[in-house]
Amino acid sequence: MAYIREKAIAIEAVIKAAAFCLDVQTEMVAEDRAEKGDKSPVTIADLGAQAIICQHLRTIFPNEVIVGEESSETLKQPQNQGMLNKITTYLQRFSEEATTDTTCEWLDMGTGTVNHERYWTVDPVDGTKGFLRRQQYAIALALVEDGIPRVGVLACPSLPTSLSSPRGDIGTLFIAVQGEGTMMASLSSHRLNFRPLHVNTATSFSQLRCIESIEQGNREVQQKIIQELGLNPEPLKMDSQAKYGVVARGEAALYLRLPTPSNSNYREFIWDHAAGTLVVEEAGGKVSDMYGQPLDFRNNKRMLKNQGIVVSTRELHPKVIDTLRYHIS
Ligand code: AMP
Ligand code: MG
Repeated sequence: MAYIREKAIAIEAVIKAAAFCLDVQTEMVAEDRAEKGDKSPVTIADLGAQAIICQHLRTIFPNEVIVGEESSETLKQPQNQGMLNKITTYLQRFSEEATTDTTCEWLDMGTGTVNHERYWTVDPVDGTKGFLRRQQYAIALALVEDGIPRVGVLACPSLPTSLSSPRGDIGTLFIAVQGEGTMMASLSSHRLNFRPLHVNTATSFSQLRCIESIEQGNREVQQKIIQELGLNPEPLKMDSQAKYGVVARGEAALYLRLPTPSNSNYREFIWDHAAGTLVVEEAGGKVSDMYGQPLDFRNNKRMLKNQGIVVSTRELHPKVIDTLRYHIS
């Protein structure tokens, strides 16, 4: 077995961050969010969860490079002093050492760059819009070595362990280690009880469903692909990398994320895909860009060589790429 310590520490870190997010979500008020430079929302959960994960990783692995979505930049603006104080108060429930200075220091442990043989990448609240709507979000953490995700963890605090029991057991943890498969456990039980996952093996395409973002994506082309392949015509819609988990456990067979003409220059961030990619591939699926090329986790925090994302079973993947060729330039 490989990456035993990394896997254990990654699980501990995301579980702690998930507990933090649940705490914050129950008590959140309008002032607990701000707008980042790119106009996207950031909440005290995103920032606090990154601080927790970085601090936890660095306690065990003091020299690790961490590439995170967040930094203390927003919090250092005078108008966000109240947010900084509040995050610190929440963090004190998790660590006696938390002060406003350590909050910024822990957050900024996650401002590393990808040009290293080994780095961790973290999206502390992937799907912030879903988190704000009290729908799906994920705490995503991956270890990347030589440009390849080796350990991937997704904690999805609002995701039922089965979509067929939406009010059943809520909160799912996905963990994948390269070469060792993908496992899932309920986040709600005291002892993690893992079971192995496999992507959908149904041979009739009409039984297979697609899953897509709530916020964005080229619905027109996505719908054409679904139709031409004869998949179930009603795609599931969900925020965050929880979509990768849903494909890994067979509830969807295809996750399509295609650029619209108005955002054709958009390049995806590594932290939005590294953990999810391993979770699906180790469950027997395949992940690529819309041209069938592997995702580039080696060169930049944005995947400059890739456009669009196709996540599916191995059987479906070449058919999706072939079909897509006629719809993208
Ligand atoms: P998700 O949680 O998967 O919907 O993705 C998070 C964010 O990524 C969304 O809020 C969008 O801003 C962005 N996004 C999703 N899909 C696309 C896409 N096809 N092209 C560009 N941005 C996207
Ligand atoms: Mg994010």
